[in-house]
Amino acid sequence: MSGPVVYDRVALIGLGLIASSMFWAIKRGGLVGEVTGYARSQETRETARRIGLCDRVCNSAAEAVEGADLIVLCVPVGAMGGVAEEIAPVLKSGATVSDVGSVKRSVINAVAPHLPDDVHFVPAHPLAGTEHSGPESGFAELYDNRWCILVPAEADTDPEAVSRLRALWEGMGANVDEMDADHHDLVLAVTSHAPHLIAYTMVGVADHLRRVTESEVIKYSAAGFRDFTRIAASDPTMWRDVFLNNKEATLDILGRFTEELFVLQRAIRMGDGDHLYEYFNRTRAIRRGIIEAGQDTEAPNFGRSAKKP
Ligand code: NAP
Repeated sequence: MSGPVVYDRVALIGLGLIASSMFWAIKRGGLVGEVTGYARSQETRETARRIGLCDRVCNSAAEAVEGADLIVLCVPVGAMGGVAEEIAPVLKSGATVSDVGSVKRSVINAVAPHLPDDVHFVPAHPLAGTEHSGPESGFAELYDNRWCILVPAEADTDPEAVSRLRALWEGMGANVDEMDADHHDLVLAVTSHAPHLIAYTMVGVADHLRRVTESEVIKYSAAGFRDFTRIAASDPTMWRDVFLNNKEATLDILGRFTEELFVLQRAIRMGDGDHLYEYFNRTRAIRRGIIEAGQDTEAPNFGRSAKKP
């Protein structure tokens, strides 16, 4: 698969799952002349060099960013502002800065103030991931047929910068949509953030139980619990930052979740089988809708591919 070059030079800052998958997808599509990369730890930089991740791995963010037409911040949400501040003085005039953070409003608030006026800012969020992290976890197919949401910052909606970034994500296999930052954060609180917190909680509950039952929870774990454990294995730093930076929307959804849980709890206590049946019938229809939209398969893995390069 190879298309026209979208950018001459792209810099990836942070070399984990998302950046490494971007690199392999960019290579697969022949989308960029040169991709430079930087990660804060020497260990990650050495791993990247060893596996050929990026055309050039640099020892500083400034070196990676120098001369780049597109800079993508691929670090945890809480680290975005600091990185933006660090690279701001070396950004090329007319360059585009983007990110892949799972939360958008707080990233815009943290990054935008550091960027010079002659640089475009087009925040983005690819809705794709696995529970794995680090430079060796990426693979070229991660974004195939998944959504990438662009959130052109209110202050800068330069159409040319937005359409080039759209072309890059489409070239990497993604479907692209545009959304307002607050709406993005609410949608993701429902579809991703609250479910992750619930999975973390469920595994935490089972862990307490396990102490009582001496590993029976693990030994006899059925698919439901195993799927929760896969989600609950996601990177702790990334998810801590997601919750701290999408507080309002996540708490709103968790409040609604708790209310519904109480209703179901009461239905069980009262033996209200009709209520339970109707409720589960409705949720089953949502699941069918997701599969019909091509966003998951029947395999019980929460849509996460276990595939690696
Ligand atoms: P990851 O695999 O854990 O990689 C994170 C990278 O960021 C590593 O290179 C790490 O450097 C660097 N980093 C961590 N803390 C940093 C700090 N304080 N300052 C500078 N660099 C730092 O993470 P990921 O899954 O690729 O996630 C990256 C971003 O994508 C996050 O903002 C996340 O919200 C977003 N995202 C993730 C997913 C997902 O499912 N994983 C999906 C969509 C979007 P070292 O290796 O040197 O420590």
